[in-house]
Amino acid sequence: MKIEVLGAHNTETDRARLPCLLVDDVIALDAGGLTSSLTLTRQQAVKSMLLTHHHFDHTRDLIMLAANDTAPPSTVEVYGLSETLEVVYLYLLDGKMYRDYTAWPSKEAPRLLLKPVAPLQQLMVQGHTVMPVSVSHSVPSVGFLIRGESGGSVFYAGDTGVGLDECWRQIAPEVMFIEVTGLNRMEENMLRLRHLTPDLLVKELLLFRQIRGYIPRVIAMHIPLNYEDELRSELSAASKQLEMELEVAYEGLVIEV
Ligand SMILES: [Zn+2]
Ligand SMILES: [Zn+2]
Repeated sequence: MKIEVLGAHNTETDRARLPCLLVDDVIALDAGGLTSSLTLTRQQAVKSMLLTHHHFDHTRDLIMLAANDTAPPSTVEVYGLSETLEVVYLYLLDGKMYRDYTAWPSKEAPRLLLKPVAPLQQLMVQGHTVMPVSVSHSVPSVGFLIRGESGGSVFYAGDTGVGLDECWRQIAPEVMFIEVTGLNRMEENMLRLRHLTPDLLVKELLLFRQIRGYIPRVIAMHIPLNYEDELRSELSAASKQLEMELEVAYEGLVIEV
């Protein structure tokens, strides 16, 4: 399975894009920096999208993916919790902000087909086995465990705070993409907003090891550009503590799982 990081930050500039991973060229995980990262031909290859939650930095480019038409028009499946799809439909696809792409060019063959998922209900998406698993963010959110045809598995957590023990009991991936949004000194605020700091990530990973007996390859993302350097040094200190390398995602990183 090929995983390509299209957006590794929670800041958008000329050199940083919003959260988005691309799996085997056909499945987008979140839609932060999706269209701004891909040529039109590559956008047309994206057939499905998995949304972790409705926050704008994770859903924004789904409108542009739909608007950047294909010829002939094809349908992109959009998977997410019903709560997520409701908000996306209400605010991004209401026909006022822009077109309602769930009914355009026609109701029978729309550009976007919204497909609700439920936690722990496994589904098949473009030949991949996908399981949504609840995480602990400020709005209803799931991470996705994805297994490719060749057997490798990856967990994309999306945005989450602490309290992942139930999630850890459901998954045993080889690679995990997880957010680290705040510096250690911002812990109080991050706990309130339900995000992670390097110290909080260490605690969650130690809990993972206690439950599952190992720690997977971990790649941090959702990085704020403002204090990226400081965050990177806190993550290397955390790596020493865990005696493993906590990697930091960047736009253009490609891994094989
Ligand atoms: Zn969020
Ligand atoms: Zn976010």
